[in-house]
Amino acid sequence: MDTTSIYHVDALDRIVEVNDAWLLFARQNAWQVERSDLIGQPLWRFLTDPTTINIYQLVMERARQHDAPIQMPFRCDSPTLKRFMTLKIRHQGEGLLIFEGQLERLEHRDPLSLPEGDPLLASAFVTMCGWCKKIRTNPRQWQELEEAIATLNLFEAPHTFLITHGMCEGCFARINRKLNPKKNSKDPLQ
Ligand SMILES: [Zn+2]
Repeated sequence: MDTTSIYHVDALDRIVEVNDAWLLFARQNAWQVERSDLIGQPLWRFLTDPTTINIYQLVMERARQHDAPIQMPFRCDSPTLKRFMTLKIRHQGEGLLIFEGQLERLEHRDPLSLPEGDPLLASAFVTMCGWCKKIRTNPRQWQELEEAIATLNLFEAPHTFLITHGMCEGCFARINRKLNPKKNSKDPLQ
Protein backbone atom coordinates (compact mmCIF):
# COMPACT_ATOMS: atom_id res chain seq x y z
CA MET A 1 0.00 0.00 0.00
CA ASP A 2 1.20 3.50 -0.83
CA THR A 3 2.26 5.22 2.38
CA THR A 4 1.96 8.78 1.06
CA SER A 5 -0.77 10.55 3.01
CA ILE A 6 -2.83 12.64 0.62
CA TYR A 7 -5.65 15.12 1.02
CA HIS A 8 -7.23 17.56 -1.39
CA VAL A 9 -8.46 21.05 -0.55
CA ASP A 10 -10.77 23.02 -2.85
CA ALA A 11 -10.65 26.72 -3.75
CA LEU A 12 -12.62 27.55 -0.58
CA ASP A 13 -10.10 25.65 1.61
CA ARG A 14 -12.52 22.77 2.25
CA ILE A 15 -11.22 19.20 2.45
CA VAL A 16 -12.67 17.32 -0.51
CA GLU A 17 -10.66 14.08 -0.52
CA VAL A 18 -8.57 12.07 1.95
CA ASN A 19 -6.76 8.82 1.08
CA ASP A 20 -6.58 5.62 3.17
CA ALA A 21 -2.92 6.21 4.09
CA TRP A 22 -3.85 9.57 5.64
CA LEU A 23 -6.68 8.01 7.70
CA LEU A 24 -4.38 5.18 8.83
CA PHE A 25 -1.72 7.72 9.84
CA ALA A 26 -4.29 9.73 11.83
CA ARG A 27 -5.41 6.57 13.68
CA GLN A 28 -1.80 5.66 14.46
CA ASN A 29 -1.66 9.07 16.12
CA ALA A 30 -4.70 8.20 18.24
CA TRP A 31 -7.07 10.38 16.26
CA GLN A 32 -10.11 8.18 15.61
CA VAL A 33 -11.36 10.11 12.64
CA GLU A 34 -13.63 8.92 9.82
CA ARG A 35 -13.53 10.17 6.25
CA SER A 36 -17.06 11.54 6.71
CA ASP A 37 -15.83 13.74 9.62
CA LEU A 38 -13.43 15.49 7.22
CA ILE A 39 -15.02 15.78 3.79
CA GLY A 40 -16.56 19.20 3.25
CA GLN A 41 -14.98 20.67 6.39
CA PRO A 42 -12.74 23.74 6.26
CA LEU A 43 -9.05 22.83 6.67
CA TRP A 44 -8.84 25.59 9.31
CA ARG A 45 -11.03 23.59 11.71
CA PHE A 46 -8.12 21.17 12.19
CA LEU A 47 -5.26 23.62 12.71
CA THR A 48 -5.25 25.44 16.01
CA ASP A 49 -2.01 27.42 16.23
CA PRO A 50 -2.51 30.91 14.67
CA THR A 51 1.07 31.12 13.34
CA THR A 52 0.79 27.72 11.68
CA ILE A 53 -2.50 28.82 10.11
CA ASN A 54 -0.82 32.01 8.86
CA ILE A 55 2.06 30.04 7.27
CA TYR A 56 -0.34 27.56 5.66
CA GLN A 57 -2.42 30.42 4.23
CA LEU A 58 0.68 32.03 2.71
CA VAL A 59 2.04 28.75 1.32
CA MET A 60 -1.37 27.87 -0.17
CA GLU A 61 -1.65 31.31 -1.74
CA ARG A 62 1.79 30.83 -3.33
CA ALA A 63 0.93 27.33 -4.55
CA ARG A 64 -2.22 28.64 -6.23
CA GLN A 65 -0.37 31.51 -7.90
CA HIS A 66 2.61 29.51 -9.19
CA ASP A 67 2.70 26.30 -11.15
CA ALA A 68 5.70 24.76 -9.39
CA PRO A 69 4.83 22.52 -6.42
CA ILE A 70 5.87 23.73 -2.99
CA GLN A 71 7.79 21.35 -0.78
CA MET A 72 8.55 21.84 2.89
CA PRO A 73 9.76 19.77 5.82
CA PHE A 74 7.61 19.28 8.89
CA ARG A 75 7.53 17.10 11.97
CA CYS A 76 4.65 14.95 13.08
CA ASP A 77 5.74 13.29 16.32
CA SER A 78 4.11 10.72 18.53
CA PRO A 79 5.04 10.25 22.21
CA THR A 80 7.66 7.63 21.25
CA LEU A 81 8.71 8.62 17.72
CA LYS A 82 10.11 11.62 15.90
CA ARG A 83 8.69 11.57 12.40
CA PHE A 84 10.50 13.69 9.81
CA MET A 85 8.09 14.32 6.97
CA THR A 86 8.02 16.22 3.70
CA LEU A 87 4.83 18.00 2.67
CA LYS A 88 4.35 18.71 -1.01
CA ILE A 89 1.56 21.04 -2.15
CA ARG A 90 0.53 21.00 -5.81
CA HIS A 91 -2.00 23.21 -7.55
CA GLN A 92 -4.32 21.28 -9.86
CA GLY A 93 -6.03 24.37 -11.26
CA GLU A 94 -9.15 26.30 -10.21
CA GLY A 95 -7.81 26.60 -6.67
CA LEU A 96 -7.72 22.84 -5.98
CA LEU A 97 -4.65 21.91 -3.94
CA ILE A 98 -3.23 18.44 -3.36
CA PHE A 99 -1.27 17.91 -0.14
CA GLU A 100 1.08 14.91 -0.05
CA GLY A 101 2.81 13.96 3.18
CA GLN A 102 5.77 11.59 2.85
CA LEU A 103 7.61 10.07 5.79
CA GLU A 104 11.36 10.59 5.28
CA ARG A 105 12.77 9.01 8.44
CA LEU A 106 11.91 7.93 11.95
CA GLU A 107 13.82 8.34 15.19
CA HIS A 108 12.91 6.90 18.52
CA ARG A 109 12.67 9.60 21.10
CA ASP A 110 13.40 9.44 24.76
CA PRO A 111 10.74 11.56 26.46
CA LEU A 112 13.06 12.20 29.41
CA SER A 113 15.74 13.80 27.21
CA LEU A 114 13.45 16.51 25.86
CA PRO A 115 12.96 19.48 28.15
CA GLU A 116 9.41 20.69 27.67
CA GLY A 117 8.44 24.31 27.58
CA ASP A 118 11.89 25.87 27.43
CA PRO A 119 11.08 29.58 27.85
CA LEU A 120 13.79 30.64 25.38
CA LEU A 121 12.57 28.31 22.67
CA ALA A 122 8.96 29.11 23.34
CA SER A 123 9.48 32.76 22.46
CA ALA A 124 11.19 32.27 19.09
CA PHE A 125 10.42 35.09 16.65
CA VAL A 126 10.54 35.00 12.89
CA THR A 127 10.68 38.23 10.88
CA MET A 128 8.66 38.36 7.68
CA CYS A 129 8.82 41.13 5.08
CA GLY A 130 5.38 42.71 5.06
CA TRP A 131 5.67 43.45 1.31
CA CYS A 132 7.00 40.31 -0.38
CA LYS A 133 6.48 37.77 2.47
CA LYS A 134 10.14 36.67 2.44
CA ILE A 135 11.49 35.55 5.81
CA ARG A 136 14.74 36.68 7.40
CA THR A 137 16.97 33.65 7.95
CA ASN A 138 20.04 35.54 9.12
CA PRO A 139 20.84 39.24 9.65
CA ARG A 140 21.65 39.83 5.94
CA GLN A 141 19.54 37.22 4.19
CA TRP A 142 15.87 36.93 3.29
CA GLN A 143 14.46 33.79 1.72
CA GLU A 144 11.26 32.73 0.04
CA LEU A 145 8.79 31.21 2.48
CA GLU A 146 9.29 27.55 1.61
CA GLU A 147 13.10 27.91 1.62
CA ALA A 148 12.96 29.70 4.97
CA ILE A 149 10.79 26.94 6.46
CA ALA A 150 13.59 24.50 5.59
CA THR A 151 16.48 26.79 6.63
CA LEU A 152 14.96 27.65 10.00
CA ASN A 153 13.36 24.21 10.51
CA LEU A 154 10.12 26.05 11.31
CA PHE A 155 7.96 22.94 11.27
CA GLU A 156 10.63 20.71 12.80
CA ALA A 157 11.40 22.78 15.83
CA PRO A 158 10.00 21.44 19.11
CA HIS A 159 8.43 24.81 19.91
CA THR A 160 6.03 27.33 18.49
CA PHE A 161 7.15 30.59 16.93
CA LEU A 162 5.69 34.02 16.35
CA ILE A 163 5.87 36.16 13.24
CA THR A 164 6.87 39.80 13.43
CA HIS A 165 6.87 42.02 10.37
CA GLY A 166 9.75 43.96 8.86
CA MET A 167 10.95 44.99 5.43
CA CYS A 168 13.61 43.23 3.38
CA GLU A 169 16.44 45.10 1.64
CA GLY A 170 14.95 44.41 -1.81
CA CYS A 171 11.56 45.90 -0.94
CA PHE A 172 13.21 48.79 0.89
CA ALA A 173 15.27 49.64 -2.20
CA ARG A 174 12.28 49.31 -4.53
CA ILE A 175 9.98 51.47 -2.40
CA ASN A 176 12.75 53.96 -1.69
CA ARG A 177 13.33 54.36 -5.45
CA LYS A 178 9.62 55.08 -5.93
CA LEU A 179 9.50 57.60 -3.09
CA ASN A 180 12.86 59.25 -3.85
CA PRO A 181 13.60 58.71 -7.54
CA LYS A 182 16.84 60.76 -7.38
CA LYS A 183 18.34 59.18 -4.26
CA ASN A 184 19.88 55.75 -4.33
CA SER A 185 20.09 54.67 -0.70
CA LYS A 186 20.74 51.02 0.04
CA ASP A 187 20.33 51.19 3.81
CA PRO A 188 17.42 49.18 5.14
CA LEU A 189 14.98 50.72 7.58
CA GLN A 190 16.18 48.61 10.47
ZN1 LIG B 1 10.36 42.18 0.83
